Amino acid sequence: MRYLSLLCFSFLVLQLNAQKQVVPVKASSKPKLVVGIVVDQMRWDYVNKFKPFFKSKNGFLHFVNEGATCDNTIIPYVPTVTACGHTCVYTGSVPALHGIAGNMWYDNVKMKQVYCVEDASVQAVGTTNNAAGQMSPVNVWTSTIGDELKLATNFKSKVIGVSLKDRGAIIPAGHAADAAYWYDTKSGNFISSTYYAASLPSWLTNYNNAHHVDSLYSLGWKLSLANSVYENNCDADENVYESTPFGKDAKHMPYDLSSFIGKDYSKIASTPQGNNLVIDIAKQALLNEKMGADSITDLLAVSFSSPDYIGHSFGPNSWETLDGYVKLDEILADFFSFLDKQVGKDNYTVFLTADHAVANIPAYAKKHNLPGENYDDGAVKNDIITCLNANNMNPKLVSFVGEYNIYFNHSLMDSLHISNESMVHLVSSYLEKKPQVLQVVESRKAAIAPLPQMAREKIINGFNAQRGGDLMLLTKSGVVDGFPTGTSHGVLYNYDAHIPFLLVGNGIKHGAINTPTYMTDIAPTITTLLGIQMPSGSIGKPVLEVLK
Ligand SMILES: [Zn+2]
Repeated sequence: MRYLSLLCFSFLVLQLNAQKQVVPVKASSKPKLVVGIVVDQMRWDYVNKFKPFFKSKNGFLHFVNEGATCDNTIIPYVPTVTACGHTCVYTGSVPALHGIAGNMWYDNVKMKQVYCVEDASVQAVGTTNNAAGQMSPVNVWTSTIGDELKLATNFKSKVIGVSLKDRGAIIPAGHAADAAYWYDTKSGNFISSTYYAASLPSWLTNYNNAHHVDSLYSLGWKLSLANSVYENNCDADENVYESTPFGKDAKHMPYDLSSFIGKDYSKIASTPQGNNLVIDIAKQALLNEKMGADSITDLLAVSFSSPDYIGHSFGPNSWETLDGYVKLDEILADFFSFLDKQVGKDNYTVFLTADHAVANIPAYAKKHNLPGENYDDGAVKNDIITCLNANNMNPKLVSFVGEYNIYFNHSLMDSLHISNESMVHLVSSYLEKKPQVLQVVESRKAAIAPLPQMAREKIINGFNAQRGGDLMLLTKSGVVDGFPTGTSHGVLYNYDAHIPFLLVGNGIKHGAINTPTYMTDIAPTITTLLGIQMPSGSIGKPVLEVLK
């Protein structure tokens, strides 16, 4: 009997071993440095579309030729905006859990509008413009890749974030970061906050004092390629539906920027030279803070914001967008050679993605008989007020509309004895008659909304109880939350939600993955590569196919 049960036990063990996929453990050196690159507003299709025009094989094409590309990476939530995107990339999580419900939201507990990285408890560092520096990651509720790297190395890893946008630097760097540096459009300085340190490092003060922005302004924005390339591959250079960020008379290439020298430091953000500033700071941080210098992995999080400003103004089919990417490609190629020299060719890993993509300019779409309309939050709010007035109701019953989230004023509803049900019915049935609207969903009941599962999931993932609206307005495809000119992003459709996810370097296999992957998979892929805990709220899966 005893012999029989032993035999059974051995058989069971054999069976279990046969079923288990055993991954052989081999001694491999971890990267000394991980560089995360977010290209703000980069559509997935840009690499393919702009490939013939890249001057180097070592920029974007370095990922394609030697690394891995995940070609069907989708953002699994709404709204597809900058703050949510950067948070998802570095937490593997969604607004429902990580708390960053938008770039801006209405806080249902504090009963006020909140900016994603605002923090009144800290002060600006490196500028007298205190408002630009009172920022920190305190509103993010879950841990980031950098936080987990810090925890895994007894806080010996260095983690630094750099971007023109405060949120593009602060959120990726995480809670336990050594530093985050962002651009102050008033002073033209890269700044920080007392959340990180009481003063800027001397290398950054020296950089700021050199007024590089003025030198870049003096160069202007000239095309990198022959005019014929843009003529043959883009929309016309001058269109009434494009914005004019450099002045109402500056309608086409090349742009003379000399009038902004010493006067207006905001304009650089809407030129490709904004990327030059960011990469300068990234390189300086790496050299001066000795990142990637020892065997303890460091994380450098770089976010290029200029492609977003350029894209908003000129759209994805413009001369400006193509030229911006040709120039960014050169910056990337140069950065790879810098990393080869400073960190060593096999000692680092780089991933590149986007925080969201972008829609065509509605008027451009219409010109080609494609669906395209504008319906911005201001217009939505006005329509709701019209509806409330028509029903002899207080227009203050809706407290905020942002990123298509509609927030009810519950205390006013209570005092006027207006039920939630009647408000939901009134507002949604009114808005659903608008030609731009697909459906208005009661956020808390998104799970039973009559929509495809993908759409329901994106709403559920994007809804945050404390920071979300009562209603989520879904527009039809091609409807843009913007501007009389230019374009925007923020919705669930693939033009906003399909992003690049590219990797290259230490631990990365070569190949193209076409099976569906999600933005939430990026963080667990990187933590798996590093052999560390995945961020606390991560709901993604590591993309094992790209890992050696
Ligand atoms: Zn944007």
